[in-house]
Amino acid sequence: AKSAGRNQIAFFEGDMQIEVEQRLTLERDLAKALEQHELQMVMQAQVNNLGEAVGAELLMRWHSKERGMVSPALFIPLAEESGLIVKMGDWVLLEACAILKRLRREGHQFPLSINVSPKQFRQKDFVDKVIAALETQGVGGENLIFEVTEGLFIDNLQETISRMSKLAGLGIRFSIDDFGTGYSSLNYLKRLPLYELKIDKSFVQDVPGDANGTAIVGSILSMAKQFGLKVVAEGVETEEQASYLITNNCDSMQGFLYSRPTAPDIWMANHAQEKKQ
Ligand code: C2E
Ligand code: CA
Ligand code: CA
Ligand code: CA
Repeated sequence: AKSAGRNQIAFFEGDMQIEVEQRLTLERDLAKALEQHELQMVMQAQVNNLGEAVGAELLMRWHSKERGMVSPALFIPLAEESGLIVKMGDWVLLEACAILKRLRREGHQFPLSINVSPKQFRQKDFVDKVIAALETQGVGGENLIFEVTEGLFIDNLQETISRMSKLAGLGIRFSIDDFGTGYSSLNYLKRLPLYELKIDKSFVQDVPGDANGTAIVGSILSMAKQFGLKVVAEGVETEEQASYLITNNCDSMQGFLYSRPTAPDIWMANHAQEKKQ
């Protein structure tokens, strides 16, 4: 029994070893991916109750020459742990401004939302980098919405608020991503310069069949209204979800029901006839 136990431990350790090695090579490949232009931003529209695009989120994709498509669910957490997310996030900012420039040229007026990780946000030179990115393309901050998660409000709230206010001064708007899935209290809602709450798809998927999930979505919508915040629902896949959200005054919807995340150039080619003059 004792030796069996030892074998089990050895097996477990061997398993861990493989995992550590896999992580390290994945991390190394991801660092190269940024240099070798294997990363790409795709765009997913956010639509109003009439189905018109009123915004879009940029999402990162990694087409690895060696690995094929790697899921963001795998490489984003790795990038966050290794700190690589800072460099990647800087690149996303520049990309977002370049895509905005093309959208405007094509006559589309909506803002772009990007995901900003806490590590990136907390860099000392973050505000300067945002200003520089906006300036390289000559776009104003009012064209960008930063999606941040509740994790950003756990430590150094005062510093976070002052940095958010600086960015808000540039016109940048803030959306709380995955709202309701974090551990934070609702207390910060009234202290932060916020524009929008983004309901996570894990709640949206429960609507309208599941009573508890529907109650959560309903509460978020009515609370947002009281705080004067916009609401966007993520992961909208069915007509039933959409009609519940529209009936309950959700400002905009994002999900496979409307569109898959698409390369910006392809999206613009498909929506050329909808240009606003
Ligand atoms: P998220 O910010 O919550 O993004 C929403 C995710 O839901 C995206 O997954 C999107 O493709 C997916 N999605 C959209 N509509 C639907 C739908 O109708 N049904 C379902 N089941 N899923 C839908 P994705 O692209 O795999 O990204 C996963 C996460 O990776 C994102 O979650 C975000 O936290 C992170 N991420 C992606 N791009 C970036 C980035 O550029 N920077 C940072 N920091 N994080 C990123
Ligand atoms: Ca997001
Ligand atoms: Ca998220
Ligand atoms: Ca989410």
